[in-house]
Amino acid sequence: MAEQGRRRYLGAVDLGGSKILSVVADEEGHILGEDRRATEADEGPEAGLERIAVSLEAALGAAGLGRDDLRAVGVCSPGPIDPARGVIPEAPNLPGWHDVPVCQYLSGRLGVPAMLENDATAAAYGEFVYGAGRGCRHIVYITVSTGIGGGLVLGGRLYRGASGAAGEIGHITIDADGPLCGCGKPGHVEALASGRAIAREGQGVLERGGSPLMARVAEEGGGLSAASVHQAADAGDPEAIRILERAGYYLGIGLAAYVDIFNPEVIIIGGGLRHMRELYLGPAEQEMARRAMQEPLRVVRLVEAELGDYSGAMGVVALLREGTATA
Ligand SMILES: [Zn+2]
Repeated sequence: MAEQGRRRYLGAVDLGGSKILSVVADEEGHILGEDRRATEADEGPEAGLERIAVSLEAALGAAGLGRDDLRAVGVCSPGPIDPARGVIPEAPNLPGWHDVPVCQYLSGRLGVPAMLENDATAAAYGEFVYGAGRGCRHIVYITVSTGIGGGLVLGGRLYRGASGAAGEIGHITIDADGPLCGCGKPGHVEALASGRAIAREGQGVLERGGSPLMARVAEEGGGLSAASVHQAADAGDPEAIRILERAGYYLGIGLAAYVDIFNPEVIIIGGGLRHMRELYLGPAEQEMARRAMQEPLRVVRLVEAELGDYSGAMGVVALLREGTATA
């Protein structure tokens, strides 16, 4: 078999603040091997880049493949990226990562072309090609977890905007004088509807002594998180239910703006909070329906991401398949 003929496989990495997920897939999008490990972000960017390479090699090994089988690799990561240079200029949840040359490193280390994409943008594309957006042409993808990110596929193409920052629903203003967002500006969707916002509201209730049940759940879980608020809400705690409904209400206001602006066929919800259907996404959908225009509402569906944790990595696979690796 010719050497080039063997190089059929694609390596994709979803780089998060706490976890690295690597997959090796064929061009049809079948995952043949994967690897998960901690990012250990505090060890700095050089150690981080090497962990990514080692994780990719472990995924190759799990697939029964070697480095000679790889055609290209790609990484998606949160926050702004510079896809043209293959550089992470600044990573909000990777301390010390400034101007990190991801593509240059991986391409030198593994001997194949490499690409870099924002994680929510990649996830939008992954759901478009392999997941809940199959068969659609106009997709809004939103990831709701600690923060809120988004990506757009419009007219069947990934839409990045002029500088790659399009689709950031988390940072549109909902309340002109609302709480400060992680980005430093007031009243954004992320400041009112994200996992961090839910935990902050829960903390407020605990400080007032407002919910013994939530306090107990938080204690058992080693601290209060959005998940513990959800757990308390599931057990019927009225304060926890109110917090989730309120967060969903704010998310719905953001969704309504997206429905009116983009007229999508489908809004796909990914991220850790996607499972909070009744108490969080339910109120969000209600509020979206109350506020958006009738015509775009008629065609839009709100659905859960199908690829789960794999949306980002599979988006990288889809982008690599189309030959966008440059470095
Ligand atoms: Zn913001």
